[in-house]
Amino acid sequence: MASDGDTVFGKILRGEIPCDQVYGDDLCIAFRDGQPQAPVHLLVIPREPIPQLADATDAHQQLLGHLLLVAARVAKLEGLQSWRTVINSGAEAGQTVFHLHVHVIGGRPLAWPPG
Ligand code: 5GP
Repeated sequence: MASDGDTVFGKILRGEIPCDQVYGDDLCIAFRDGQPQAPVHLLVIPREPIPQLADATDAHQQLLGHLLLVAARVAKLEGLQSWRTVINSGAEAGQTVFHLHVHVIGGRPLAWPPG
């Protein structure tokens, strides 16, 4: 799926709408979800506007690993010892913003399986 980056996360990356950013580097940023599902709910997004995980290629191998390492870093910065990382890929999986993102959710007991 092609993307011109014109999602709400593209607007956040371009500084067109505000966010509560907790981390940033050359490859990604992390910020608080606007509708948190738990006491801690962060989103880690690449600066490159990959629409969904299904669109990632071998060229993104290092970036994808980096996103997971940043997810763990920001979770620990928030004081979490346990958390859940989620990547929804596709509308039927619950993806609503088509700019790849890793959810970091924690701060309360989390049921399994998810809905
Ligand atoms: P998805 O359902 O695509 O996996 O997750 C998208 C997430 O983005 C949702 O949890 C939603 O609350 C969050 N979100 C959507 N728009 C905004 C926004 O403008 N600001 C922030 N901080 N989060 C947003």
